Amino acid sequence: MKLKSLEIKGFKSFADKTHIILDNPITGIVGPNGCGKSNIVDAIRWVIGEHKIKALRSDNLEDLIFNGSRTRTASGMAEVSLTFENTRNLLPTEFTTVTITRKFYKNGESEYRLNDVSCRLKDIHNLFLDTGVSNDSYAIIELGMVDDIIKDKEGSRRRMLEQAAGISIYKTRKKEAKQKLDATEQDISRIEDLLFEIS
Ligand code: ATP
Repeated sequence: MKLKSLEIKGFKSFADKTHIILDNPITGIVGPNGCGKSNIVDAIRWVIGEHKIKALRSDNLEDLIFNGSRTRTASGMAEVSLTFENTRNLLPTEFTTVTITRKFYKNGESEYRLNDVSCRLKDIHNLFLDTGVSNDSYAIIELGMVDDIIKDKEGSRRRMLEQAAGISIYKTRKKEAKQKLDATEQDISRIEDLLFEIS
C-alpha cells in the first residue's frame, strides 16, 4: 500500500487546489521558512483523523481554513484528500485505489468521504486499522516522537510494535466487545431488579 497523491484546497496556507503526486519511493519537500511544508504534514494528519487541534499546530478548527491574505479572500471550507494504491489488497476493500477525503466548513459542519461516498470517521479507521495509517500510528514520526520511542515513554515502543505486528486490530475489537458485554450485563441486572419488584 502506497500513498500516491494528496490534494489540498482551502487548508491553512493552501488557498488554491494543490495536487501533490508522490510517484517516487522517497519524496522530499523543500522550501523557504514559512512556505507551508509542515502544513502538508498537518493536512495528512488531519485527514487520517487527528482530532487534537494542538497536534495540528492550531488553536481551533477554524484556523485550519485558509484565512485570507492581502490579495485573497478567506476560504469557506478546508478539504484534503489522500489517495492510496491498494493493489496488494492490504486494505480490506475490492478497490485498487482508495481515496479518503475530509472537509470542514466555516459553519462548523464536517464531512468524511471514502472514494467519494459519504462515510463516518469510524469507517475510515476500520479500513486503515493495523496498516500504520492513523492519527496515533508510526506512519508519521515527528522529532519529539523519536525521543519518546527511544525512552519507551508510556509504552510507546510496544504500541508501535503491536501496530506493525497487526495486533492492535484485535485489541480494539476486544475493547469494543468488552463494552458491549458490560452494557448487556447492566441490562440483565436492570431486568433482574424489575422482575424482583414485580414478583
Ligand atoms: P519552517 O521551515 O519554518 O518550519 P514551513 O515551510 O514548515 O516553515 P508552515 O509551518 O507549514 O511552514 O507554514 C506556515 C505558514 O502557514 C505561515 O505563513 C502561516 O501564516 C500560514 N498559515 C497557517 N495557517 C493558515 C491559515 N489558516 N490561513 C492562511 N495561512 C496560514
